[in-house]
Amino acid sequence: MNQALTAIDQFPSEFVERLRTIVPESWHETVFASFVYPRVTSFRVNTLSISVDRALAELEGAQVPFHRVPWCDHAFYVESNDRARLTHCELASNGGVYVQGLSSIVASLVLDPQAGEEVMDLAAAPGGKALHTAALMKNEGWLSVVEPIRKRMFVLADNLKRGGVTISHTYLMDGRRAGQKVPDRFDRIMLDAPCSGESRFHIDQPSAWKYWSPRKIKEQSRKQQGLILSAFQSLKRGGRMLYSTCSFAPEENEMIIDGFLNEVGDTAQLLPIELPFDNWQTGLCSFGEQQFSNELSLSCRILPNEHHDGFFMALIGKG
Ligand code: SAM
Repeated sequence: MNQALTAIDQFPSEFVERLRTIVPESWHETVFASFVYPRVTSFRVNTLSISVDRALAELEGAQVPFHRVPWCDHAFYVESNDRARLTHCELASNGGVYVQGLSSIVASLVLDPQAGEEVMDLAAAPGGKALHTAALMKNEGWLSVVEPIRKRMFVLADNLKRGGVTISHTYLMDGRRAGQKVPDRFDRIMLDAPCSGESRFHIDQPSAWKYWSPRKIKEQSRKQQGLILSAFQSLKRGGRMLYSTCSFAPEENEMIIDGFLNEVGDTAQLLPIELPFDNWQTGLCSFGEQQFSNELSLSCRILPNEHHDGFFMALIGKG
């Protein structure tokens, strides 16, 4: 563990100092170690193309040594040493299994889309959550997927096709325009916002963290403010949406939700989130000199360990 705490010294010092104030002290060692040690490779059986039982039999046949995830009957993982066995097996290339972080898998479970609903994924590429959403909807209903970057849209469309999704409708556009284009339309909306990706940092990949800066956080924060308002405008009354990022920065998380609640008033309520594991904290109600609404304690931040990436979520209802 000491090795982790030394290695972390290579990260930008301001990033590390901020993290110390965001994450409870009792979690510092685990969180810092997650930037240094390998994480497991988790995956989801794509129940649109194969049953869980058959997928597991095929994985056993291909000698992929998988483990079950106790809180999700279609999620599994392999140890980091076995990653190549999983990603090179036929089931991974034909869309029967999809490699996806456990925090990302839990996001679709929290949104809880239902068969027959109208759902939108407002920042969708490469499509992990959209695929999972379609599977939870049993390919019944309507799923709009939005992505403004052409190259990423092709990857998204390809993944949806390979995964057997038949209810998706793809839109190459800036998600900030959706609210005006389709107001009050969707039962559920996933907004897994573009972000500074801080929880993806790993000591072995300096290109991701070397250029971290508060300015980049600010840039993302501006975009996120526009996206959350647009998503909310597209949500039906009685609908719910999930705002998430894989960044630790309160400027991309609590501050976005706080500003949004101030702007839209009583029509939005934060809804409680229950997570089936214990490595998470409630959202912050202050950061530095900034105070946020007490409602922010209903949001949550998954703390990274060898199984989970760091992840922030706020579930929002429209009254
Ligand atoms: N939800 C995706 C998944 O599970 O595979 C990952 C989404 S990723 C965190 C954010 C995505 O938002 C990126 O594909 C990025 O290109 C896209 N994005 C960037 N700016 C956007 C905008 N203005 N409107 C909508 N999406 C945007």
